[in-house]
Amino acid sequence: MEKRDVIIIGSGPAGLTAAIYAARANLKPLVIEGYGAGGQLMITTEVENFPGFKEGITGPDLITELRAQAEKFGTEFLTADVTKVELSGDRKIVWEDENRYEAKAVIVATGATANLLGLESETRLMGRGVSACATCDGFFFKDKVVCVIGGGDSAMEEGTFLTKFAEKVYIIHRRDEFRASKIMVEKAENNPKVEFILNAVPVEMLGDERVSGIRLKDTKTGEKRDVDLDGIFVAIGHTPSTKLFKDQLDTDKKGYIITSSDKNKATHTNIPGVFACGDVQDSSYRQAITAAGSGCQAALDSERYIEENE
Ligand code: NAP
Repeated sequence: MEKRDVIIIGSGPAGLTAAIYAARANLKPLVIEGYGAGGQLMITTEVENFPGFKEGITGPDLITELRAQAEKFGTEFLTADVTKVELSGDRKIVWEDENRYEAKAVIVATGATANLLGLESETRLMGRGVSACATCDGFFFKDKVVCVIGGGDSAMEEGTFLTKFAEKVYIIHRRDEFRASKIMVEKAENNPKVEFILNAVPVEMLGDERVSGIRLKDTKTGEKRDVDLDGIFVAIGHTPSTKLFKDQLDTDKKGYIITSSDKNKATHTNIPGVFACGDVQDSSYRQAITAAGSGCQAALDSERYIEENE
């Protein structure tokens, strides 16, 4: 069994920033980065709003930079998924299959994953024209017709991104107002390849072997209509990755870990010595920079906790 000061679970901007700070504070952090290392930034194209990169940087490049910076200060990485945690004692136990790791403090930075619509046809055609990741799969739709489902920033961003490949991109949203920021909606609206279909929900994804269209229901009239297309990208929000912590860490009704409302203890969870940062505890801001900021807070909080309990 390995004993550590700090174990960080997750390796998006929150986990990696926590690692940079914890490593510089000589806490010898171990980051258990997961097989899906890097989190949602790995499926993000251009990040234009992360301070310090005035020309923008791709999500994967940003992760590579953060990881290298954490490594430079002595962070160790383990590419594996945590399978079990026991957080209640003074020593926190983290399991990866048979391997047991022990730490004085644990930082939870497990992020969130993409939601799906839950249609039978969506499951059947997943990977056969249905995707939840435009960055990963957009390339396969050169000169094709595709749609993006959703009315948030992700839908606008993915819709705009897909015009690089596709001949036409429908953005299908269930209302006629958008959750997305104005600037992102305008960018999509000004793209001649984008057409909006509003007040519409998908009721079925059409096609046998591959997607051939989508059946939509008008939310106002109830009328159904089919749209011919080759690809469907689902961009309807996210669910926090908190299953591992069930019955140990308090979560809100959407499953996000609840952190302290005391601004001097911003990343404290209900268990002393366990801190949460990034999208796993933030259903509101959900930006790379806010995740990184809370990662910094989690490292400082864990450093203080360890000092106070030594
Ligand atoms: P989101 O803001 O939660 O938007 C989800 C969208 O999907 C909403 O428009 C919602 O419709 C729709 N939706 C949800 N469930 C649906 C269902 N079952 N059927 C049809 N439509 C459904 O999620 P997001 O777009 O992934 O964005 C998440 C966060 O990341 C946001 O804070 C966003 O600002 C941020 N983000 C930022 C950038 C950027 O700045 N570059 C890029 C991407 C994301 P309703 O509006 O009707 O609820």
